[in-house]
Amino acid sequence: MAAAIAARMKGFDVTVTDGAKPPIDKACGEGLMPDTMAALHHLGVAICPDDGRVFRGVRFVDAATSVEADFSRAGGFGVRRTVLHQKMVERAQECGVTLLWNAPVNGLRPDGAIVGDSFVKARWIVGADGIHSRVRRWIGLDTKTRRQTRFAQRRHFRRKAWTDCMEVHWGQKAQVYVTPLSTSEICVALISRDPRMRLQDAWKEFPKLASYLRHAQSSTTERGAVTMTRSLNHVYRGNIALIGDASGSVDAITGEGLCLSFQQAIALADALGSGNLESYQRVHRQLAKRPNFMSRLLLLLDRFPSLRRRALRCLAKEPDLFARLLALHVGEFSPEFLVATSLRLGWQFLTA
Ligand SMILES: Cc1cc2nc3c(=O)[nH]c(=O)nc-3n(C[C@H](O)[C@H](O)[C@H](O)COP(=O)(O)OP(=O)(O)OC[C@H]3O[C@@H](n4cnc5c(N)ncnc54)[C@H](O)[C@@H]3O)c2cc1C
Repeated sequence: MAAAIAARMKGFDVTVTDGAKPPIDKACGEGLMPDTMAALHHLGVAICPDDGRVFRGVRFVDAATSVEADFSRAGGFGVRRTVLHQKMVERAQECGVTLLWNAPVNGLRPDGAIVGDSFVKARWIVGADGIHSRVRRWIGLDTKTRRQTRFAQRRHFRRKAWTDCMEVHWGQKAQVYVTPLSTSEICVALISRDPRMRLQDAWKEFPKLASYLRHAQSSTTERGAVTMTRSLNHVYRGNIALIGDASGSVDAITGEGLCLSFQQAIALADALGSGNLESYQRVHRQLAKRPNFMSRLLLLLDRFPSLRRRALRCLAKEPDLFARLLALHVGEFSPEFLVATSLRLGWQFLTA
């Protein structure tokens, strides 16, 4: 939807064909970071306060430690995926994008796409078909990808939100992250390396969270997904470009997947405008650097519990450092800021 809106804003005639139909849901932590909100604003997607709930920062919690930091400028926003999708559909319609639902793409030709039994002619084709992208496979870009796969389960609970932060609870073999969506509903997403792990098995690792949710009613059933850190060497071939999770992804724990997709959409529309997908490839690589770095850092904390305990201890001792890392995470930094923060982090680590 973001790619369609951005291309239409550049004056292209755009048709979206999606195999599903609204409201389209997906297992997601449903947290929009401040940089995600900024990208949505750029696309003209209007999110109202009543659509979800503002969160002021991020809190990391483990058995012994809790550390939190506020975003330095605007807040983040928790919103149901279905609501976000509806908002994007409305914006696409307002721009004049043609929308085809229940319309799976079954194959590609250089001059367009085979949609169901019909053919849709197109000068440019954008594969925005998610983590298991068939478009990526059809154009031969599935090879030589680096990936780290984890498994996720998401469920909503009706309960007075106890937090105005997005919380990441760290357990031995998993993380659960909690996003407030309204005063009475929260989104809970479990992420682990074990494909069989379910929320009900995870509670013993998260006693504090279990106590918050003991009497809460689930408002949805559990929905699963895989999450991956994956980089592609190329994100386009000929007149076909990949975007979003189809073009590579960062682990869900970063909460940056949607932001990346929206920023890529803006870059792709610029490249289509100048008829040069090589510039999209360049910007795509640049955009991926920071979230990829943060994704690797967070996965190290997942893999090495002693490292994680030390890191949380050191951030609890110096919460300002956590605030700086959070600012880095959402792209509010200069290279000098990055160097100064890395030096402080290194020193704290050595002395923790
Ligand atoms: C557990 C979990 C938690 C996450 N939490 C967050 C978070 O808190 N914040 C955040 O920013 N990101 C989060 N992410 C990442 C985010 O969900 C993804 O990065 C984002 O959804 C990618 O969007 P996409 O459009 O590329 O793919 P998708 O959202 O997967 O959309 C792909 C679309 O393509 C359609 N499609 C697929 N195949 C075809 C076909 N052949 N023909 C037609 N249509 C087709 C599908 O119907 C679907 O609508 C999370 C991910 C996971 C797994």
